[in-house]
Amino acid sequence: MSIEKFTLEKVLSVHRWTNTLFSFIMTRPAHFKFTAGQFARIGLKVGDELVVRAYSVVSSPFDETLEFFSIVVPDGAFTSNLQHLQVGDELYLEKIPYGFLTLARYQLPAPHDLWLLATGTGLAPFLSMLQDFETWTKYQHIYLVYSVRTEAELAYVDKIHEIAETFGEGHTGFKFIPIITRDPQADLHDRLPILIANGELEQAAGSVLNPETSHVMLCGNPAMVDDTKEALKARGLSMNRRGEGNIAVENYW
Ligand code: NAP
Repeated sequence: MSIEKFTLEKVLSVHRWTNTLFSFIMTRPAHFKFTAGQFARIGLKVGDELVVRAYSVVSSPFDETLEFFSIVVPDGAFTSNLQHLQVGDELYLEKIPYGFLTLARYQLPAPHDLWLLATGTGLAPFLSMLQDFETWTKYQHIYLVYSVRTEAELAYVDKIHEIAETFGEGHTGFKFIPIITRDPQADLHDRLPILIANGELEQAAGSVLNPETSHVMLCGNPAMVDDTKEALKARGLSMNRRGEGNIAVENYW
């Protein structure tokens, strides 16, 4: 990994949600331009080696800083070091962003209803999209669906409401739908593919998944992405290729 591809950026704040989930904000160099939904490659020196991992940007493309949402992977070379991050520390940031989980990829069907389905830290790119006014003007309905194991892992809930008020002011078609899979008392507690097959997700949204109108984005656990893709295909939705189709995905590991 050539170090010339990176700039050194400073950590401005760290927020810990649980023992294994945290967010951090760092400086954004003027050259780092990205589209909501894209990811950055962040590097850490572990001994002499530069270890690099992909992180979707949480911040809006218009923010002056860059925010990221991370899990601590047990024994992971990167996050077991990253979890000790402190304000003032330095991280490497690759100069260009990556990724195609962006709303611009959709040509057909035309934008109407947007379903953003996340597990865990897969929420990140959707927070970025929702902090872009264009998302709110493009779609009549937006459903943000966020599946976690326990209530404590439901990060960013206050921020989601704040974003909906600020960016979606006057927009009446937004719904936040949390799923807590290991809490039988939660309103929704089954995994996404089950909730799609049995109609509970659509019931919670008050809307239907429609091959003629729906854009569906999946981000997070690769097993969730695979299984949910199949559940959506069974409902007649198709993968988005060369602009056409309903489903776009990003695996997180
Ligand atoms: P997770 O196991 O991904 O669970 C988050 C949510 O996804 C839960 O609601 C879970 O439901 C659901 N889920 C899991 N598999 C699913 C499937 N096949 N279909 C539908 N929903 C599914 O939890 P996490 O805390 O975000 O991540 C767990 C582990 O993933 C970590 O401990 C870490 O080792 C690894 N991870 C690795 C990386 C990496 O970069 N290498 C990044 C993130 C996470 P259930 O409660 O029913 O399982």
